[in-house]
Amino acid sequence: MNKYKVVIGLEMHCELKSNSKVFSSAKNAYSQIPNENVWPVDMAFPGTLPVVNKKCVRDALKMSMVLNCKQPKYLIFDRKNYYYPDLPKGYQITQMDSPVGVDGKIIIECDGKRKPVYIHDIHLEEDAASLDHYFGTSCIDYNRAGVPLLELVTKPCLESAKEAVSFLEAMRSIYQFCDVSEGDTKKGQIRCDVNVSIMDENDKELGTRVEIKNVNSFGGVYDAINYEIERQSKLKESGRYDEVIQETRRWDEESAKTIHMRSKVDAIDYKYFIDPNIPKIKITKELLEDIRKEIPALPLECKDKYIKEYGLSEYDASVIIKEKDYVDYYEECLELKIEPKMASNWLTTQILGEINHEEVSLKDFYLKPKYLKQIIDALNKKTISSKQAKDIFYKSCSEKKEPNSYITSDMAQINDKEVISQIVEKIMENSQEQIKQYKNGKTNLFDYFVGQVMKETKGKANPVLTKEIISSYLQK
Ligand code: ADP
Ligand code: MG
Repeated sequence: MNKYKVVIGLEMHCELKSNSKVFSSAKNAYSQIPNENVWPVDMAFPGTLPVVNKKCVRDALKMSMVLNCKQPKYLIFDRKNYYYPDLPKGYQITQMDSPVGVDGKIIIECDGKRKPVYIHDIHLEEDAASLDHYFGTSCIDYNRAGVPLLELVTKPCLESAKEAVSFLEAMRSIYQFCDVSEGDTKKGQIRCDVNVSIMDENDKELGTRVEIKNVNSFGGVYDAINYEIERQSKLKESGRYDEVIQETRRWDEESAKTIHMRSKVDAIDYKYFIDPNIPKIKITKELLEDIRKEIPALPLECKDKYIKEYGLSEYDASVIIKEKDYVDYYEECLELKIEPKMASNWLTTQILGEINHEEVSLKDFYLKPKYLKQIIDALNKKTISSKQAKDIFYKSCSEKKEPNSYITSDMAQINDKEVISQIVEKIMENSQEQIKQYKNGKTNLFDYFVGQVMKETKGKANPVLTKEIISSYLQK
């Protein structure tokens, strides 16, 4: 256990979903072919001018509202000036003084506990191009230049690696729920800068922070934070805390270490100023209210509703809110008036099992809620047994035929004690020889009698009842 208090602040960059880039008409899509989605403005050709993408602005404002931030009166973009080969204009268009959101707060869940995370600001900006390095040469791929990025900066209020990752997971899920980003870390759509410091429990001031730049996986964030906590703690413990300096480090996946990049003294002066090529746009109340209508129920709201209103277990509710697709499927079941617990049981067991097995997404899964309803209706009417329901489910999935095509009126399980008794009696009368052998110790003939009943009823006799009846007959 670490004896110091840990303080973490995150800067989370997330690529937004849109048809075109944030300031140009080039396609916003991942491409294997370098320089495929490029417009002159992305390459900073003289005379080209940026045009702001309305959808990106709406999505940025949407997230600002979701995070309970304050929105500015005007939409303003700034130039952040620095030189790097992947930055063709020599500056990045971003937001400095008047971001789309400031001073927000969002509740997350970590280890079953809820906690507020405070948001410093959220702003819209463009991504840089990317560099491909080869032996002795490097190539620039402009596909990523101008891809819309939303940067979210938290206040220093997170207290462990686990909490930081819970926050990132919650945010990714919220971005997906709001349909503003795919949030795919494998495609590099989410990248983080992680700020870590330690302090004594009673210290009034925060410790010296170290920034770890561009960590591109949640696992990396977790490991980098824990590495940093340990590194700083060891120095503090041995009286060498002055060696913890305000610096930028990077996470080296291979050696599982953070490595020094530059110190604050070498910090770049970005000479921010308002981009004069982008007119400021008024953000009206009407616009904000219009965008607010598009905000869906967020994961934790859904979870609370499922537990409180529908009586789902904490576990089942957590499983359903994991993905927007799951919530959509579940809500559709509810609209079809499938009993909530029943819908949850089928979704969290059979259905998720099956999509996993088929390796399809729930969106592309054959058995839509309306088909699930056919099975559940038949089950409720006792036209089919629960065993038959499962069989029909799997058959329907594999043959891609609707469940009703397998459900017939004579499928019902026989649960009538009298009916089964009559059948048992008839069979026993014709099995005198077997009964004798059974009573002489050949007890495995019991299954033979059950088999006979099943044969006679085409498998529809309730097996538990059948066994009970046979057993009491044999004891006579
Ligand atoms: P900069 O402008 O240099 O990026 P900021 O003050 O804006 O610095 O902070 C950037 C990030 O660092 C924020 O997420 C913030 O929460 C975090 N941060 C600031 N101070 C600390 C600290 N002492 N310990 C941990 N994180 C910190
Ligand atoms: Mg920063």
